[in-house]
Amino acid sequence: MPLSNGRPHMALPGPSMMPDRVLQAMHQPAPDIYDPELHRMMAGMVPDLCAVARTRGHMAMYICNGHGAWEAALSNTVAPGDTVLVPTTGRFGHGWAEMAQGVGANVEIIEHGRKVPIDPQRLRTALEADKGQKIKAVLAVHVDTSSSVRSDIASLRGVLDEVGHPALLMVDCIASLGCDRFEMDAWGADVMVTGSQKGLMVPPGLGFVFFNDRAADVRRAMPRVTRYWDWTARAEPEMFYQYFGGTAPTHHLYGLRAALDMIHEEGIENIWARHARLAQALWAAGEAWAAEGPFRLNVAERAHRSHAVTAAQLGAPHGDRLRAWCRDEAGVTLGIGLGVEDPEDPTSSGYFRFGHMGHVNAHGMLGMIGVVEAALTALDIPHGGGAVDAAVAALTAA
Ligand SMILES: *Cc1c(COP(=O)(O)O)cnc(C)c1O
Repeated sequence: MPLSNGRPHMALPGPSMMPDRVLQAMHQPAPDIYDPELHRMMAGMVPDLCAVARTRGHMAMYICNGHGAWEAALSNTVAPGDTVLVPTTGRFGHGWAEMAQGVGANVEIIEHGRKVPIDPQRLRTALEADKGQKIKAVLAVHVDTSSSVRSDIASLRGVLDEVGHPALLMVDCIASLGCDRFEMDAWGADVMVTGSQKGLMVPPGLGFVFFNDRAADVRRAMPRVTRYWDWTARAEPEMFYQYFGGTAPTHHLYGLRAALDMIHEEGIENIWARHARLAQALWAAGEAWAAEGPFRLNVAERAHRSHAVTAAQLGAPHGDRLRAWCRDEAGVTLGIGLGVEDPEDPTSSGYFRFGHMGHVNAHGMLGMIGVVEAALTALDIPHGGGAVDAAVAALTAA
């Protein structure tokens, strides 16, 4: 008998669950876009977003998803023929590299597979080999959502500084902002991109590009930047419509205002701590399941794991069976595996991901863990015992 009725739990690594407060804030009639109130609301959100990103720099907003934010950042900084270096830890690193190819860049990839974070030594070697300092930007994904690997962004800045290389450090925080600690200025990122639908808890459709003065200088030296992606007027608009280069996505902005209020009330440090603690509960459960049978967490070292998404595998066809059971029998939707090239599992049906970003709490996490335990049991998939107890112990540890 299915037990899935009632409020569903969406454990996707984006789009994430929307708080009722965000939904209710969006439930409004169409506003007059010339009403000064909208401009005031917008002007108030810019510093709030910069506070979440931990930057005193600039920010431009776009009506787009994360892919658009990738292209926006590149369009302002990378001209055809420029070289970019992309250390990859999963599918999203390759996705950004493909975007760079699309704007005409020469792309050098440092392939790291999908189990370990970016190796600062390999970055150093690549930068030192670049005698003419032709590399214009290093594109780094903070948390690669396909692998759930988290890289140490500050260590990459350290290498750039030690080598004395002028390349911009551009960081994708689409999965990590508002979940994993990220300090744009203190860690020395020059450009950071994110989207609305993950840690920010708003529907997909808003892209954000944060940039510092160094990046602004690079923009000014560009031979040309296509108008829609140009961040100049968006970051310092004289009129409301310049924020979005046209009609603003008013209802997304109402939702974002509510989400930023929630973030402000909880406090970003507390939000990071909540995500960390909930992730530890899931890892504790995962490590218990893995003690016997096919369940595996993708990333071995805790220090290299995201607090927002966890990639795992059960082997084909168990991954798909598990996801179907959780959704159909228990109302919990897990994410599919992504960017997995496994010759023994060409459909990647053995892989899946737990999303735990944004609007997540202890009962959501314990519920999800309990449901996965039930699925493993109901489907007769061998697994280690004690996962729920281990999760409870991790949640309640001093
Ligand atoms: C989700 C995600 C993207 C892509 O964002 P879309 O909104 O789907 O275009 C890119 N990078 C990372 C790290 C992501 O998590």
